[in-house]
Formats: sequence, C-alpha cells, structure tokens
Amino acid sequence: MDNKEASSNFIKNIINEDLSSGKVQEIVTRFPPEPNGYLHIGHAKSIVINFGLADDFKGKTNLRFDDTNPLKEDVEYVDSIKEDVSWLGFEWEGLHYASNYFEEMYDRAVLLIKKGLAYVEDLSADEIREYRGTLTEPGKESPSRNRSIEENLDLFERMKHGEFKDGEKVLRAKIDMSSPNINMRDPVLYRIAHATHHNTGDKWCIYPMYAFAHPIEDAIEGVTHSLCTTEFEDQRPLYNWVVEKCEMEAKPQQIEFARLNLTNTVMSKRKLKQLVDENYVDGWDDPRLPTISGLRRRGFTPESIVAFCQEIGVSKGNSIVDVQMLEHFIREDLKLKAPRTMAILRPLKVVITNYPEGQVEMLDAENNPENPEMGIRQIPFSREIYIEQEDFMENPPKKYFRLFPGNEVRLKHAYFIKCEEVIKDEEGNVVELHCTYDPETKSGTGFTGRKVKGTIHWVDASQAKRAEFRLYDSLILDDEEQEGKSFLENVNPHSLEILNGFVEPNMEDAKANDKFQFFRHGYFNVDPKHTTEDHLVFNRIVSLKSSFKLKK
Ligand code: ATP
Ligand code: MG
Repeated sequence: MDNKEASSNFIKNIINEDLSSGKVQEIVTRFPPEPNGYLHIGHAKSIVINFGLADDFKGKTNLRFDDTNPLKEDVEYVDSIKEDVSWLGFEWEGLHYASNYFEEMYDRAVLLIKKGLAYVEDLSADEIREYRGTLTEPGKESPSRNRSIEENLDLFERMKHGEFKDGEKVLRAKIDMSSPNINMRDPVLYRIAHATHHNTGDKWCIYPMYAFAHPIEDAIEGVTHSLCTTEFEDQRPLYNWVVEKCEMEAKPQQIEFARLNLTNTVMSKRKLKQLVDENYVDGWDDPRLPTISGLRRRGFTPESIVAFCQEIGVSKGNSIVDVQMLEHFIREDLKLKAPRTMAILRPLKVVITNYPEGQVEMLDAENNPENPEMGIRQIPFSREIYIEQEDFMENPPKKYFRLFPGNEVRLKHAYFIKCEEVIKDEEGNVVELHCTYDPETKSGTGFTGRKVKGTIHWVDASQAKRAEFRLYDSLILDDEEQEGKSFLENVNPHSLEILNGFVEPNMEDAKANDKFQFFRHGYFNVDPKHTTEDHLVFNRIVSLKSSFKLKK
C-alpha cells in the first residue's frame, strides 16, 4: 500500500499505537470466510486489508474457515476459497477450521455455565424474539433464566448427547435483558442442529453461534486485530464479553471497516447462490458475477483486483463504488501486457478482385505499439478477407468514413481498398463486397500519395480461425431494490451476447486465460471453461473506451 493510503488508514493508526504502547508485539490478522459460497470482490477487499496490514507490520495472517453452520457449508467451497486466495497472490500463515475448536468452545461454554453466566433455554425461537424487547422497550427475563448451575450443566450435556430435537433448547448467555444494546440481551450461544458437518461429520449436534465462536477462534489463534465489516459494530461489546468471561488468554480487538458495494452488482453470497442455483448464470464462475472465480474467467488479473482494492482503501463509511473503477484497473494492467491483434466479431466477406488468385503474402504487424518490446508478428493477406459488418454502410450518414460504395479506406497493417460492388442475397441483405486494392499503398512503405479518413481491421479469410465471442453487459440493471420485489426482477435478460466470427491464424496457440486486445473491440480472455482443442471461446473483459476517470 502506498503512502497516500497509509495516512488515511485508521486501522494502521490503531496498530501503530498498539505496537508503540507495547500492547501487542506482533500483528496477527485473519481472513475468516464461512465456506457457504464462493468468494467475491467484497472478500477481496477484506483479504487485501488483512494480508496487507500484516505485511506492512511484518506480522502474520491466517486463513480460517468459519465453519460453524453445518447446514450451509461444503468442501467445494473450502477448496474454491483456498484457490482464490492463492490466486490473488496471498500466502496464509496458518490454515484453520473453526470446527477444530468445537471441543474447546464447548469447554468454554461449560465454564460460563459454572460461573452462572449461561443457561439452557426452553423457549422457542419466536418466544425468545418476543421476550427480547425492542430498541425502545427493555426485554423480559425468561422463566429458564434462574435454573440452577447443576441443572444447566446437566441439560447442556444432554443437548450435546443428542437428547433433544433441533430448536427444542438453546444455550444463552446471562447478561442483561434490559441492556440498551439488544445484542447483550442474553444472546444465544449454542443451538441444536442434527446435521452432518463437512469437517466433523456426525460428532456434534450442537453448534456455537457466530457471536460466541468468533471471539474464541480469534483468541485461540492469537489474533491481535480482528477486522470485520461495520454491521458487527453493535456486537463488539458482546465480543469483548465473551473474550473476558471465557477467560481467554489472548485479548483480540475487533475493528470494523465498511463493506464494499459495487454499482449494478449483487454481492451477498446468499443472492449469488440463488443466481447460480436457479440457473440465471453458468455457475459460480460465470463471467458476469463479481465472484473471484467469475472475474478470473472473465479475464481480470489478480494485479488488477488488488490494485483496485488498494485504491478504495479502508474506510468506515459505507458507499457504492462505481464498477467502472474496477474496469479501469484491468485496462491499466493489460495496456502494456496484452498483445494487440485483429478479430472479426460479425463477419462480412470482402473479395479483392484485382489481387492475384492463389497468392498469399505475409505482412508485418506490431504486437503492441505502446510496448515495442513485444515485437512484430506476421499476418497473411490474400484475395478474400473478412471485415466487420458495421464497417460497411450502403447509404452512410455524413461523417461515416468507413466503407461505402465508391469509398476508400485503409486496412490496418495492409493496403487501401475501395468498394466497387455490393453483392446481396434474395432478401436484399449485403452478403459480400467486391473491392479493389492499390499495391502502392502498402502499410510501412511510407506511401503519401493520398489520404483516407478511415482505418478498419480485417482478417485473412483463407487462414482465419473460427472463434466464438461472448460479450457481457451488467447482470443487474438497477441498484435500487424496490420494496416487496425480489432482486431477481432486476436481472438483465440481455447480459450475454454470443457472436461467431474469426481471429488471426496465429491464435492457434492461444491457451485458456490468455489475454488479448482485439483492435477496436476491447480486451478479451480465452474462456477456460468452454474452449476446446477446436473451438476457441473469448470472453470480453472490457471494451476499450470509458468515460471513467480516477479521482486524484
Ligand atoms: P456475504 O453476505 O456475502 O455472505 P459474509 O460477510 O457473510 O458475506 P463471510 O464469509 O462471513 O461473508 O466473510 C469473510 C470476511 O469477508 C468477513 O470478515 C467479512 O467481513 C468480509 N466481507 C464479506 N463481504 C464483504 C464486502 N462486501 N466488503 C468487505 N468485506 C467483506
Ligand atoms: Mg455470512
């Protein structure tokens, strides 16, 4: 992270103070995803903050699966999360599972009971909610609240041994039913769930709640600064209560920062899962999703994602970041890295009638004019080529400088051609153009005889390779969620357009996730899921132009 960011990073200020006061010796952070879905760009923000801070202060970061809910979690998610964190370029110190601490959590809960600070509750979830009160009214104490320690110990053990059904009992902290902070009104610590857990199998049928489990996990691992998003701010007193009353040796400190939101994007895993499960998209790695695997498949690089996260920095105020800012960073990253080649997305055949039949010549083409080190390739040129349909108009408006009957344009890296004849099918559609070329105008020979206003791209028809192009638009049309309406009603029915065209023959060697700039069309990535030996599929990452400007 750069200096501009350092000065505005309130978490760094806290850490600096903690180090200089001697409160902590070494910084330990953690990234604690629940394995109930794939990671998204919001998680990338958290990853960059956690690993970035540890890195800045020569500390450590653990990857910890917060897997305390057997009903929603799966090893598929565990594996994808590990892959995504590594792909982003981060190395964790310890790899931990909250479920490996179940025994210790249980012991700490028993300790609370013994201290008279927890009790087994018979009320149903609805009744608990009713008794809890509101922001303006204090809660009511439950009849279960005054059970003896012995009875609580016995009941909790029987909960553990599976004597009760789901929802029949819970363990609650005994704090204060009239606390102004509703989180402190005897929060639930343990619930019963007869379900198989992806890591502990059927060993447990009681599971700790997040608010109880998280501080204990942090303390066990010696996490010094436990960073979470601002919706947990009101839970901080409970976090500290658990650390203190459970007599944890380490005293981690919870600090909150703002969640990342992006325009035209759904970010919660619950909603993403719904889009996947209900087949709105082609899996968790659909290139339209803000998941890390979706962004990867779309063609975003780890560098662009990390640079984006560093730019948005750490703040406490919630805001919506324009998705164009993310796109800005991939353009920046690929500008000098991606070879620039020609692709025809909507082909129109052009026959160059005065070019000798059977002749093929090789033309020099620069791979990246902004980065001459990328060298020069050779591209074939012959009597038949493809151009874009939109680069020809039979009856053009004023200021249309591309091909129309009688007009001359420059073919990038090749010659001037002039449109002599338009060939149509029975329905009147233009199916082919007949043009002539001028051999004097060859690119690179310094021809100055006359000027043309338009330059268009093309590929040689005899050797071009067929390719499929996938163009994407926002998956979500409107950020405003209307009351009573599901976000699914905001899904854009036209977010994917599939085109079949051609690329240069040198694309034969293109491998999954290779990235190119196609002249005038934008940046593209070789799709790793649908590309096969004889079928190339390209995902458009971004178009070339943007009105977006980074604020300085
Ligand atoms: P979701 O609602 O998408 O499931 P979550 O917060 O429940 O998000 P977790 O797996 O619990 O997801 O998150 C792991 C870490 O990533 C947490 O520390 C969480 O605060 C952080 N995180 C999740 N979403 C965002 C976001 N949009 N912006 C910043 N950090 C996030
Ligand atoms: Mg969650």
